[in-house]
Amino acid sequence: MKNIFLLSLLSFSMISFSQSEVNLEYYFSQQDITTLNKDIPTPESVIGHQVGKWHITHDKLVEYMKKLASSSNRITIDKRGKTFEDRPLVLLTITSEKNQKNIKEIQKNHISLTNSSQVPNLEKTPLVVYQGFSIHGNEPSGSNSALLLAYYLAASNSDFVNQLLENTVILLDPSFNPDGLQRFAYWANSNKNINLNPDPNDREYSEVWPGGRTNHYWFDMNRDWLPVQLPESRARIKTFHEWLPNILTDHHEMGTNSTFFFQPGVPSRTHPLTSKLNQDLTRKISKYHVKALDQIGSLYYSEEQFDDFYYGKGSTFPDINGGIGILFEQASSRGHIQNSDNGILTFPFTIKNQLTAGLSTLDAALNMRKEILNYQYNFYKNSREEAKKEKNSAIVFGDEKDAAKAYHLAEILKRHKIKFHQIKNDFTKEKINYKKEHAYIIPKNQKNLKLINAMFEKRTSFQDSLFYDVSAWTFPLAFNLDYNMDVSMDMAGEEIVNLNLPNGVVNSKSDYAYLLSWNDYYSPGLLNEILNHNIIAKVALKEFVLNNKKYDYGTILIPVKNQNISSKSLYELLNKLANKNHLIIDGVNTGLTNGIDLGSSKFKKIEKQNIAIIVGEGVNSYDAGEIWHLFDTRYNIMVTKLDVKSISRSDLSKYSSIIIPSSKGLSDMNSKKIIEWTKNGGNLITFKNSLNWVNKNKLLDLKIKSSTIPTKNVSFGQKDNHRGAQVIGGAIFEAKLDLSHPISFGYKNEHISLFRNTTIFMDIDEISYNNPIIYTESPLLSGYVSEENLENLKLSVPFKTGGYKKGQVTCFTDNTNFRAFWYGTNKLLMNAIYFSDQF
Ligand SMILES: [Zn+2]
Repeated sequence: MKNIFLLSLLSFSMISFSQSEVNLEYYFSQQDITTLNKDIPTPESVIGHQVGKWHITHDKLVEYMKKLASSSNRITIDKRGKTFEDRPLVLLTITSEKNQKNIKEIQKNHISLTNSSQVPNLEKTPLVVYQGFSIHGNEPSGSNSALLLAYYLAASNSDFVNQLLENTVILLDPSFNPDGLQRFAYWANSNKNINLNPDPNDREYSEVWPGGRTNHYWFDMNRDWLPVQLPESRARIKTFHEWLPNILTDHHEMGTNSTFFFQPGVPSRTHPLTSKLNQDLTRKISKYHVKALDQIGSLYYSEEQFDDFYYGKGSTFPDINGGIGILFEQASSRGHIQNSDNGILTFPFTIKNQLTAGLSTLDAALNMRKEILNYQYNFYKNSREEAKKEKNSAIVFGDEKDAAKAYHLAEILKRHKIKFHQIKNDFTKEKINYKKEHAYIIPKNQKNLKLINAMFEKRTSFQDSLFYDVSAWTFPLAFNLDYNMDVSMDMAGEEIVNLNLPNGVVNSKSDYAYLLSWNDYYSPGLLNEILNHNIIAKVALKEFVLNNKKYDYGTILIPVKNQNISSKSLYELLNKLANKNHLIIDGVNTGLTNGIDLGSSKFKKIEKQNIAIIVGEGVNSYDAGEIWHLFDTRYNIMVTKLDVKSISRSDLSKYSSIIIPSSKGLSDMNSKKIIEWTKNGGNLITFKNSLNWVNKNKLLDLKIKSSTIPTKNVSFGQKDNHRGAQVIGGAIFEAKLDLSHPISFGYKNEHISLFRNTTIFMDIDEISYNNPIIYTESPLLSGYVSEENLENLKLSVPFKTGGYKKGQVTCFTDNTNFRAFWYGTNKLLMNAIYFSDQF
């Protein structure tokens, strides 16, 4: 009976939704509509349908925004860069016509407020609001609402809009993630029924792998605000630092059965470096959302679920930069209409809520203008005073054997307008050498000291044990760089304005042999190209000294004789590749060394590689994307993305190495095929959860510890927190390296920092040399881990490798490629590719 009733209700709704046309009156009040200037084109007149009828594609979105900018004196549009797929990253600047005329002056004054010690006169100073949408491409209500928000701000002549534009500069970023938005729009539109069907089982509501959330290389871009590794983030962070917005909003979607969320988030999970005043202002702003959402009858919540901890998220990043970041989360209709616990959820309804929150933010901005401007002024004033106390203190970081890794960290600092210097002269501190062009000094006495602290600090105690994202991101650990948090500014040379990687070159032409250090970050890229030219290259299994220079484990030897090209061509090729990869190659004229001679059998031939990564349903798309990105963009190594759908009909024999990123395991048919390939000599590399598959199929005995969560004295109400506390959401741990094992080639220090976000623990092997990487006795470097998990981790191993018939199987419990900024462990994967024959 109940079901029949529900069914009839449902069909009634379906009829009503398929027949109703959404119009402007749905989004705006009648009163608002009377204020709209008819000369400004509506979204419908350009995109060909009302907003919400179809999902906007990025090209149409840009087309409308361009049209709007050309029709309104209130709006300018800038193209700030391109995505991986060459889509433009546009930004609208929206303010009154009068302000537009001297926008440069307004921008200059706004920034000078953050540098000034004089109490400012804020009577006429506009507030800067950055509104950004749909950084997750399949959370589209944000970008779709941006069409209406921009239209309204261009067209309305209401008192509110006139006053608002006089007192505010709005930076409107209509699509944080163009490639993802486009991918999702294609899916939702191409599966739409004319008779809108709210059945969640319809294909419309379940995208194919990997979905539209991420960018081209499957990165979650809402984790990249601090590392700034992706082109989309680079453009966005540049705008951020050029404007230092007072408020930044980040419009997302969440599960279909939710309602609407706005910040503040869970108070106990706010990062301790964020002030109470910041959260108080966020709360005060939220009253404007409450009022607006009450008015349109929308349910909402705050101070639950989401938090303000990791500064790499859009709504938290501004909090360490003198602004106020605000997260919005709207229940997702995912496609055009879906059944939910709150009744039928339509796409236009989700758009309307985002539009409402966008406008309530602007209402708060107008009314709280002076208070928020004062907050930013005081934030930087206090920050500078704090910095002054550290006048002579600085941070040094570097790697005497790898200029590139140090350079890439410096590059991040530069993107955040953090100042840094060369070192004046080479020096040694606490037994570590810092070398010119391989090390940089950051003076603490600078405006962005808070941001520097947020990037460099280590933290191991926390108020709460639950985290929405990672609990640690200490940058010098991520890069596995040497660093010291307190050196004298006397060590500093010139400030670096133009940052460049040192040039690469072949030191001298040789008719005998060339040697290449494996310590450099880009050496795998160079090795790959040499092998692709069918040039013979060998790896040194021992250290040696030649011409008074010490060569480490893993040095690459390229003999001149018996190659398929002449000595001259080889020199030219190596010079070209050294230059391209910013590496130094030494030409040598003798094979006699102090240690293994160049003709020794301790130099092993390196095989040319043909690499496949398993991708598709069941594989963690972030982890897979990170690996793809690493090979494709950093090392220029071509890889095949082998979808689980096509494994069974593919000839695997052409691949020398296959990587299985973290996954749920493989189907029986795929397992059989991969195992067969391994037996026949394949080099299989597996990560994280795929280790369970390795163990189950007995490819290696991984000795995985069974970890049970103690549940004594836990009440039902505490259950979620108790479970959550046992999650390793992302923390940094220390392990000891056996530098003589090929997995450690290219590392100079005996300790390494590893990023871990799993609870897979492997016991050590009884044969000690089979444990080249071991977690130390007190491994926690930074981040949260429960006592039970820490106990499990101590002296366990993150790496195992072993032969399987003619092949090799290698397992990593940890992610060596996390979010593209863990430069420090990328080489572990490269060693597993190129040197597995020597394991
Ligand atoms: Zn999101």
